[in-house]
Amino acid sequence: MMLLTRKMIEIRNILQEISTGGGSRSLTRVQLPSIVVVGSQSSGKSSVLEAIVGHEFLPKGNNMVTRRPIELTLINSPDAAAEYGEFPALKLGKITDFAQIQKTLTDLNLAIPDSEAVSDDPIRLNIYSPHVPDLTLIDLPGYIQIAAADQPEFLKSKITSLCDKYIASPNIIVAISAADVDLANSTALRAAKRVDPRGERTIGVITKLDLVDPSRAIDLLQNRSYPLQMGYVGVVSKVPSTLATRASSGLLSRFSGSGDSGDIGSVIAKNEEVYFGRHPVFTRALTDADDLTGQQQVTLGVINLRNKLMRILERTMAKNLQPACDAIHQELEETAYQFKVEYNDRPITAESYLAQSLDSFKLSFKEFAGKFGREQVRAMLKSELDQRVLDLLAQRYWNKLDEDPDLALGTLDDATIKSILRPVSELPSAPSEDVYWHRQLDACVSNLTKSGVGRTSTTLVSNALSGEMEHLVNSGAFKTHPYVKTIVQDATMEILNSRFYSTADQVENCIKPYKYEVEVEDQEWSKSREHAFALLKEEVRQCEAAYYKLQRSVGGGKKLSQVEKFVEKSRRGLVKMEDANEIYGFSQALIDKGREGLFLTKRADILRLRMQALKSKQCKSKDSKYYCPEIFLDVVADKLTQTAVLFLNVELLSDFYYHLPRELDARLGHGLGPQKMENFAKENAKVRRHLELQERKQKLELAAEKIESVIAMQKTRRLQPA
Ligand code: GDP
Repeated sequence: MMLLTRKMIEIRNILQEISTGGGSRSLTRVQLPSIVVVGSQSSGKSSVLEAIVGHEFLPKGNNMVTRRPIELTLINSPDAAAEYGEFPALKLGKITDFAQIQKTLTDLNLAIPDSEAVSDDPIRLNIYSPHVPDLTLIDLPGYIQIAAADQPEFLKSKITSLCDKYIASPNIIVAISAADVDLANSTALRAAKRVDPRGERTIGVITKLDLVDPSRAIDLLQNRSYPLQMGYVGVVSKVPSTLATRASSGLLSRFSGSGDSGDIGSVIAKNEEVYFGRHPVFTRALTDADDLTGQQQVTLGVINLRNKLMRILERTMAKNLQPACDAIHQELEETAYQFKVEYNDRPITAESYLAQSLDSFKLSFKEFAGKFGREQVRAMLKSELDQRVLDLLAQRYWNKLDEDPDLALGTLDDATIKSILRPVSELPSAPSEDVYWHRQLDACVSNLTKSGVGRTSTTLVSNALSGEMEHLVNSGAFKTHPYVKTIVQDATMEILNSRFYSTADQVENCIKPYKYEVEVEDQEWSKSREHAFALLKEEVRQCEAAYYKLQRSVGGGKKLSQVEKFVEKSRRGLVKMEDANEIYGFSQALIDKGREGLFLTKRADILRLRMQALKSKQCKSKDSKYYCPEIFLDVVADKLTQTAVLFLNVELLSDFYYHLPRELDARLGHGLGPQKMENFAKENAKVRRHLELQERKQKLELAAEKIESVIAMQKTRRLQPA
């Protein structure tokens, strides 16, 4: 068992986690030696890699399907029930279907647009299997000879420079060339020769040996023009055609699953054995590869290639242990220094950040709760009911005067209007009139008490609370955290909704008595008298403001009053409406505005008269409720409000204030889980930086510790007697 390689793969994975930690800033510079595989397109590179892995999993196709380096980590896992792959950066989990891995790789590669051609951002893929050795391999885009018509001009040089980056020291180069192409033209070997002229860290792999004469094959494997210390390996890495047909019909996968000799690696190996066995020239050269002698060795077969790679990687790792350890330490020192300077060594966890944010949110929630209590709910509900009272008054009193031809304001003189509106000094005498006004007020009271105060008031408070919660999440500690915002809003809505119907019912029940009788105290009457007066005053102000706006919209007060006069006259039959445009030059829109102006003026007149009435002596007494409906309705509205608020406060407000913080504790505390907590914390750019630097430091510490223990292990091994 290649213990060292396995340990180094572990260390490599730790270092890789730093690289994917996010942001280019966190990339580590520490390089552990890797095996990189280069070769021209169609040289058989994929076939060799797949033979080593035992599965077909690499992207296939003519359209430059390898556009990014694939960092392949093979992990031998003897106990694993199934073989699977994992893309650590994608968090897709274990993928047991190799066709799915192939599809994912194809998608990832093709995501690089044609215009960019290749990218040096590697795809990381780990494969766990009892059939693979512990090995790391980097597959690179294949060299192209001449760019095809639809490929960008710079493609060739871009691929070359990408490969150059990877074949630099201390990496091991696996240079793949096909036997049926002149080796002098092998781009892979030429590239290797450029960076490794003495052939110290290059392994030559000659594929497609079956396509040339066996003696020519042996010649190629002893390539004297570029001697390699680790020699050449010859393979026939093609899946035999009978099996390939079966593979395309899905039979091979079943075949593959039928035991440890079933993977395509074993199939290829068997095929090679037969092929090489058939030609004595190979049998003579077929030696177990021993590449330590420094002599040009000939190695045959995928299995021997695989074993050779394992030994070489192990040896290279061992040689590079100390430099890698030094590099890790140096990077650790820099990171630790930065952490001290920037954060004074202050540790942070996603959990502590969340707890802190939640506390701060709860604090602002508490502040809001202190400001939005019973009194505020009362004012809100009262103003809602005020509006309802005004609507009822308009409907039952003021507009009536316009609708009822006998009461039509336009046709009446001021004195009559005054009498209709009961400016109190002139009390009505006719009992029939009394009955009419009694009915009007009773209808108003009934409308008001039966207008669904329970529902209205509960909706009002619920909306105010959810609105405020929205404001709080958007401005407070969670403002940069969309996910948590939703959690807070959901919790809010759930609490409010669960209380809605019972609260509305309770309120409705409690105001029931007012539907039958409303008793008024003197004090209540005088308070409502003042309030009703203020309400009318405000209504007058609004009428005046609307009138002023109307004047401006028609081009001045003079114009508006001309139109108003015309409308007034047409009402009295003094002019004909049909003549408005032709004779007077008033458009329909203008006439409508005239009507509106007239309405507003009259409404304001009535309101002013009513204000006078409320001021009068008569209205001081609660006995004159039929003459002062504004005051009586205000008393009713006030009573409804007071009663409703009592229940709203207990059933909804206090309940919400009590439960929300607890609900948030439950949902945002441990309920969130570590991954979401981390995602949450990293949504805040500052915290993200802090967390990442800290993680980087921790990972480097871990890597340093591991590599030191590997070095120690190596030393004891060396000291032990053989
Ligand atoms: P890549 O483009 O370098 O990855 O090359 P592939 O592995 O896709 O191989 C290109 C073609 O050569 C495919 O049709 C393979 O089946 C074929 N091929 C690969 N290795 C061998 C081999 O050893 N012998 C023969 N005859 N064909 C091979």
